[in-house]
Amino acid sequence: MKITDIRFGMLRIPLKTPFKTALRTVDQVEDVIVMVHTDDGRIGYGGAPATAVITGDTHGSIIEAIRHYIAPKLIGLDIADLNRVTHGIQNALVRNTSAKAAVEIAVHDLWAQLYGAPLYRLLGGGDPVITTDITISVDDIDTMVAKSVSAVERGFASLKIKVGKDIGVDIERVRAIHAAVHSRALLRLDANQGWTAKQAVYALHVLEDAGVHLELVEQPVKARDLEGLRYVTERVHTPIMADESVFGPLEVLELIRMRAADIINIKLMKTGGLSNAIRIADIASLHGIECMMGCMLESSVSVAAAVHLAVAKADVITKVDLDVPSLCALDPVDGGIDFNEAKITIRDVPGLGIRAIHGLEPLDLKQGT
Ligand code: MG
Repeated sequence: MKITDIRFGMLRIPLKTPFKTALRTVDQVEDVIVMVHTDDGRIGYGGAPATAVITGDTHGSIIEAIRHYIAPKLIGLDIADLNRVTHGIQNALVRNTSAKAAVEIAVHDLWAQLYGAPLYRLLGGGDPVITTDITISVDDIDTMVAKSVSAVERGFASLKIKVGKDIGVDIERVRAIHAAVHSRALLRLDANQGWTAKQAVYALHVLEDAGVHLELVEQPVKARDLEGLRYVTERVHTPIMADESVFGPLEVLELIRMRAADIINIKLMKTGGLSNAIRIADIASLHGIECMMGCMLESSVSVAAAVHLAVAKADVITKVDLDVPSLCALDPVDGGIDFNEAKITIRDVPGLGIRAIHGLEPLDLKQGT
């Protein structure tokens, strides 16, 4: 099964309600969909969103990186030589992690199709059912409480609450949500780099003293501020999770050496795909550190790969934040995964099981420009 061509499409999916964090507001998912074709007529699917403020990747940069740097390294390679293929992807150019992720997802889809098994089985197997949290966007307090109560009533047992705007209001947001749902749901906070280290310690001490038990707090400080992250981790009881601060395995090794965080959020768009995400899970496992499997605002094409990895590495990936298909107004993908609110189930079909993507806009007309 040799790679013959890589083609592109654009997929746009409206969200039920706008997604708001300390960094940005988004009202639709927009993914570059990557289709890797082979000489036996199969297609592997991958995808990536633009996350300019997190990874630096834009739709244009994703397409250019694949078309002019990654694709020329892959045409003619055999999917069975998966390590050679992923090595070619990772070494085609530096950074551009979302472009690499999109292609790695597609070639892993093909690799599992080649052996006729769902991807998670080839990654080590496991129980093909996982439970995700749901994101509560940063908003006024009453709206956040109402959305939290609604999510709990729909069966979500973990809420990921976006904060990081104004420290005083953030504390009130969390106290109000805690008062409304704490006996029925675990609370995770994501500050998206919105606090300073001292603000984070202050806020968490206030919450801890008030009896607000949080499962974890994600990325309280700026991505580059590993010292600040360590400062917070050393001073609070609440577990601290690194997200934007760590992309690949080398950064994870440095984070662990510094003891800068207690938990690592793995996202394929940061790691450059599955090969490095597997390395991170294995490094974390060796060090007794738990991981979350997360995603960007991306379609169920790429989230599918994250689901397969989370199942296969469930011993170390103990937390799942793959709620985007639940946040979308519709799922345009006829695929191998059933996203049903908190419960995500993988069907017993080869690869990622993607049969069709509805509403895909072709981008191949621009080829050669
Ligand atoms: Mg985050």
